[in-house]
Amino acid sequence: MENDKLWQLVLSQIQFCISKANFETWFKNTKIVSEKDGAVSVSVPNSFSKEWLENKYHKLILKILRNTDERIKEVKYAVETPGRKVQILEPPKLEEIKSPQLRFEELEVDKKTNLNPRYTFDNFVVGSFNELAYAAALGITKNPGLTYNPFFVYGGVGLGKTHLLEAIGNKIKEKFPKKGVEYIPSNKFIAQIINSIKNRNTESLKAELQKIDVLIIDDIQFLAGKEKTQEEFFYLFNNLYEKNKQIVLSSDRPPKAIPSLEERLRSRFEGGMMADIGLPDYETRLAILKFKEQEKNIQISEEILKYIASNITRNIRELEGALNQMIVYQKINSKPLNLDTAKKLLKNLLFSPFKIAIPKKIVKIVSEFYDLQEKDIFNKTRKREVVKPRQVAMYLLREELKNSFSSIGRKFNQKDHTTVIYAYNKIITELKKNSKLVEEIELIKQRIYSE
Ligand code: ADP
Ligand code: MG
Repeated sequence: MENDKLWQLVLSQIQFCISKANFETWFKNTKIVSEKDGAVSVSVPNSFSKEWLENKYHKLILKILRNTDERIKEVKYAVETPGRKVQILEPPKLEEIKSPQLRFEELEVDKKTNLNPRYTFDNFVVGSFNELAYAAALGITKNPGLTYNPFFVYGGVGLGKTHLLEAIGNKIKEKFPKKGVEYIPSNKFIAQIINSIKNRNTESLKAELQKIDVLIIDDIQFLAGKEKTQEEFFYLFNNLYEKNKQIVLSSDRPPKAIPSLEERLRSRFEGGMMADIGLPDYETRLAILKFKEQEKNIQISEEILKYIASNITRNIRELEGALNQMIVYQKINSKPLNLDTAKKLLKNLLFSPFKIAIPKKIVKIVSEFYDLQEKDIFNKTRKREVVKPRQVAMYLLREELKNSFSSIGRKFNQKDHTTVIYAYNKIITELKKNSKLVEEIELIKQRIYSE
C-alpha cells in the first residue's frame, strides 16, 4: 500500500481512540516518509510531537499498523526540518526522554505491591539535605514495624519522597519476601475508600487492607478536607499500628501544615518518626548528575553538568530532566554537546513558568489547540466551538497569570467582567467532572511552558 494511504488509514483509526484535541495537537502534519522491510518512518513537525508519539501513542500506532499490514515490525519517528533531509533515529528509551513536564506511565510496576523496582536505596544519592530521611528509611527496612512507626517524610516537589518510599518497599520485599507490602498513592487510596463507601463494602476493603504488613501511602496531603476518608483511614491506621505493622507516609509539608487534617490523625502522624527532605546543595546536585550520567552510561562534559547543577536548584526531577535532554540531544547528533547548545536546550527549564506564560502566548496556544484563528477567539459569538476555547483562555489567564477579571474582560472586548467570572467558574466546575477537559488543559499548559 502507498505510504500516504497507509497513514490515512492509521489516522482514521487513531481518531476514534483519542480526543479530537489530542489528535489535532499530536498528529497534525505527520506522515509516513518511508516503509522498508517492515520498518516504517514517520515524520513529525517538532521534537515535542516526537516525544509524545513515542511515549504516549507508539503502542497504538504500531498496533494499528500491524493490523493493517502484518509485515510491519517497527516504527520510528523523526523531526522534519524544512529543506533538510529527514533524519531517522532509533527511538530513545522511555526513561531517557522522560522530561520534567511530562509524566509517563512507569512500565514495570509490580502488580501486587504497586512498587516500581527502579526506585532503590542503591540509586538514591545521599547528602546533608536528605540524610536523616535516608537513615530512618534504611532503619525501617531492618525491622519493619518496630523501629520508626509511623514514618512520615515530607519535602517539596521532585526531591525524592516517592523514591525513598518505594525504596523502603522494595528493600523490605527483598529481605522479607513473605511480608505483604503495598504502595498506594493517596489519590488512589481516597478513590478506593470512596468507591467502597458507594458500593457499601467498606468492611471488605478494610479487611483487605488489614492484611498488609507494610502500608505505604504517598502524598498524604491530599487527604486534606476529605473527612470520610480520614475517618476510615484513622481506623485502619490504629488497627495496623496496634499489630505492629509498618506505616510509611509522605507529604509535601509537615502534618501541622496540612489544612483540615483531623487532630487525632495529626497527632498520630507526629507520634512516630518525622524527617524532612530539604534542598540539595550544589555539590550534591553535581553528584546526582554524575551518578545519573554513569547510570545511563553516557558522557556529558563536566562544564555542562556544572552549568546544570548551578542553574537548577530546587528540584531533582528537573535536574534529571535537564540531563535527559542533553543525553537525547547528544545521541541524536552523535557528537558531544557543547556548552552553548546546552544553554539553549536548558532555556525552557530555567525560566520560571511565570516568565514564559505571557497573555499573548496563552491565547495563541489555546487557539491553536482548538484549531481556531486567534482573531476568532475574540469574536463575540455564541458558537460552541468558540465559546469553550474562549472560556479556557480566560480561565488560564486568571489561573496561570493571576490577571484581574476586569483586565481579562478588556482583552476580550467585554464591557463588564461578570462574563469572565462566569467563564472562570464554569471551567472550574467542569474540571471537577470532566476528565477530558482536565487532560486538555494539562496539555495546553505543557505547551505553554515548553515553547
Ligand atoms: P517527590 O516524590 O518528592 O516529588 P520523586 O521521588 O518522584 O520526588 O523524585 C523525582 C526524581 O528525582 C525521581 O526520578 C527520583 O528518582 C529522582 N531523585 C530524587 N531524589 C534523588 C536522590 N537523592 N538520588 C537520586 N535520584 C533522586
Ligand atoms: Mg512523589
